[in-house]
Amino acid sequence: PISMNDPMEEHRICVCVRKRPLNRQELHKKECDVITVPSKCVLLVHEPKLKVDLTKYLETQAFRFDFSFDETASNEVVYRFTARPLVQTIFEGGKATCFAYGQTGSGKTHTMGGDFSGKTQNVSKGIYAFASRDVFLLQSQPRYRNLDLEVYVTFFEIYNGKVFDLLNKKAKLRVLEDGKQQVQVVGLQEREVSCAEDVIKMIEMGSACRTSGQTFANSSSSRSHACFQIILRRRGKLHGKFSLVDLAGNERGADTSSADRQTRMEGAEINKSLLALKECIRALGQNKSHTPFRESKLTQVLRDSFIGANSRTCMIAMISPGMTSCEYTLNTLRYADRVK
Ligand code: ADP
Ligand code: MG
Repeated sequence: PISMNDPMEEHRICVCVRKRPLNRQELHKKECDVITVPSKCVLLVHEPKLKVDLTKYLETQAFRFDFSFDETASNEVVYRFTARPLVQTIFEGGKATCFAYGQTGSGKTHTMGGDFSGKTQNVSKGIYAFASRDVFLLQSQPRYRNLDLEVYVTFFEIYNGKVFDLLNKKAKLRVLEDGKQQVQVVGLQEREVSCAEDVIKMIEMGSACRTSGQTFANSSSSRSHACFQIILRRRGKLHGKFSLVDLAGNERGADTSSADRQTRMEGAEINKSLLALKECIRALGQNKSHTPFRESKLTQVLRDSFIGANSRTCMIAMISPGMTSCEYTLNTLRYADRVK
């Protein structure tokens, strides 16, 4: 274990908030923007109907984040302050994770760059692509060139506690834990990539696979976690790993009282995984020896990223600015607040 005054310690966990702009529909309905970002770290919620003085509460230490991004921030700017520092971590032989958390429609997929709706593609302008670009940049730098690192990517989805390979036609995969507590996703496709363009193709392929067969009304992507990984290997041996996760919509965790049994089960599973995730990140931040990774498939699969002295994580909590989203927004902020 690393000592309390290890300089890495305080930087192991970064928690940020990103507010998206009001969209055309919301503007049309004259939806009120209840979020202001007065400074780099502080965020205010003004909801007249909630009779609590939130402003006061928020201005105490309670709702401070490492960074708060307002609606004018681009994906590139968000990337620079969140995932970019973690690219270095994997070159140093560490494990990094970056999570996009928030309600459905708050901008998780937009930020990560996993949109693929056939015509419009933003894959080259999201965090997946920016991180990949910088991996190749660092790979060619003198200090890392001698390591002869090979770069691979994986892309999978966790839906209702089951893992599906997005780079292999949603093949269902088994997760095994060996006697040494190593977790393995059996048969997960690891594709070797040699440039940023290669990676873009993989992101497009995986994203298209994620949304295939879905109708708007029955979009399972809001109920699944998508995990895109960049893996560095040295002569075949694992060197570093960066997992970028587009989480299931957190409002889905509340579906536990739905009349539909399937929806109820999925809701319970999402709830469980988001709670387990919070506990695992907290354990990492507090340098605890026990990490409750077995509580969900998501945390089990990411197990090796929550342990070890050189593991770092970043959570980007996405929020919608509208008044009608206020309750969910507060839930998101409370969750993000407790992670740290
Ligand atoms: P989620 O993945 O959280 O459900 P999406 O990323 O799909 O949400 O975003 C919902 C819609 O809002 C999309 O049409 C997306 O393009 C748009 N959007 C999200 N964030 C932003 C942003 N920061 N700027 C502009 N449009 C955004
Ligand atoms: Mg999404």
